[in-house]
Amino acid sequence: MAISSEEQTEDYLFKIVLIGDSAVGKSNLLGRFARNEFHSNSKSTIGVEFQTQKMDIDGKEVKAQIWDTAGQERFRAVTSAYYRGAVGALVVYDISRRQTFESIGRWLNELHTHSDMNVVTILVGNKSDLRDAREVSADEGKALAEAQGLFFMETSALDSSNVASAFQTVVKEIYNILSRKVI
Ligand code: GDP
Ligand code: MG
Repeated sequence: MAISSEEQTEDYLFKIVLIGDSAVGKSNLLGRFARNEFHSNSKSTIGVEFQTQKMDIDGKEVKAQIWDTAGQERFRAVTSAYYRGAVGALVVYDISRRQTFESIGRWLNELHTHSDMNVVTILVGNKSDLRDAREVSADEGKALAEAQGLFFMETSALDSSNVASAFQTVVKEIYNILSRKVI
């Protein structure tokens, strides 16, 4: 973890990874959160990218380094380097495509293979704005999250609903765990 108890809280830097099937909205969740942008066309950049976002957690400044697969998941080859050192994860599906929800187990396995079992994880059902096209109910998402011990939230990168909350939930929990350890 990129933290030591001697450091000031301003130096807290948490690596968070975004995972989930192609086109569920990972890049747009990050774009909405970090830059308040939304793109209706998928940008198919290849290669890993991350954004460092300053966040205020209980009045303390914390930096989240949020990694985006930037398309490599299409080849089912997200590298172990992507996961290395991650302390948080957003595992994303699209509420309008059941197949992406059915992939969640595989993504959780991959996450646990490549990173610490204690990585703080939130299950994210994105595209909540697509009410008429919904294929996965909120209750199903919630039930899976409870069974797996994950946080859960439905989001929309399009209308901004819960986007900041999803990232904040993860960062706040990491911060709380580390503060408890330091004390
Ligand atoms: P990624 O492959 O998981 O990074 O997905 P992208 O962020 O590239 O998004 C894939 C497609 O879904 C794009 O056409 C986006 O405009 C669209 N999209 C992403 N988030 C949302 C959302 O919350 N609602 C709707 N309606 N479309 C979204
Ligand atoms: Mg993407």
